[in-house]
Amino acid sequence: MSRPIRPSLDPLILLRDIGKRYRLGQMWIDALKDVSLSIGRSELIGVAGPSGSGKSTLLNVIGLIDPPQSGDVIFDGGSVRAMTDDTLADLRNQRVGFVFQSFNLVPVLSALDNVALPLTVRGVRSGEARERAADWLGRVGLASFAQRRPDLLSGGQRQRVAIARALVTSPALVVADEPTANLDSVNSDKVLDLLIEMTHESGATCVLSTHDERVLRRVRRRIELSDGKVERDSATDALRVCVE
Ligand code: ADP
Ligand code: MG
Repeated sequence: MSRPIRPSLDPLILLRDIGKRYRLGQMWIDALKDVSLSIGRSELIGVAGPSGSGKSTLLNVIGLIDPPQSGDVIFDGGSVRAMTDDTLADLRNQRVGFVFQSFNLVPVLSALDNVALPLTVRGVRSGEARERAADWLGRVGLASFAQRRPDLLSGGQRQRVAIARALVTSPALVVADEPTANLDSVNSDKVLDLLIEMTHESGATCVLSTHDERVLRRVRRRIELSDGKVERDSATDALRVCVE
């Protein structure tokens, strides 16, 4: 990949000492502990780690779905701590696109209407929304499947619809939580190629999580989580090498 690593000059997202706990009965689970990261514009990042290490929690914090209990997220210069829930929801709707392991398409809508949905939610009139959605479906190679509902599409096709839906609003950030976990290796490769190519073309930052070594080989920066902590970050490894 030819994406530059820009660790701190003008980051899109800064995480400062993020802590996130979940209550489980009488116990508290520390899902993230003191996580600090700088995520640059147009970066492609793979978040790795075993099941339960905090990947989804981290992606939900980065994607502004789930605010942390401690620390702060600075998104494009703005402190999330200082935002009301409505401002945060607006920021998320305007700037972030999501791709999920289980696709999360609306089953009663056609592929076209699924892709158009984030636009209509934002008040784009239906004709224009459908035009833009059709353009994106074409880019992911599904122009002829526009009228199909998700249950009549393969897993790989559903994830391509989800990628089009994530990118149709031209987000600054695309968050993809284990986007290939439910796909066979051929479809997994195709979906990953598409996600990397589409986010690169649009200039979006892409943060994906996976425990698939094949996927991790494709990303330039790799962040490894273990037990809620950043165990390794190849960007800081690279910096250390430069300093040494
Ligand atoms: P990963 O995506 O790497 O599998 P998660 O971020 O889903 O990890 O989970 C990290 C830890 O937080 C795990 O111990 C998990 O059980 C716990 N956890 C995640 N979500 C919740 C929740 N909603 N309630 C309670 N515990 C949770
Ligand atoms: Mg997960």
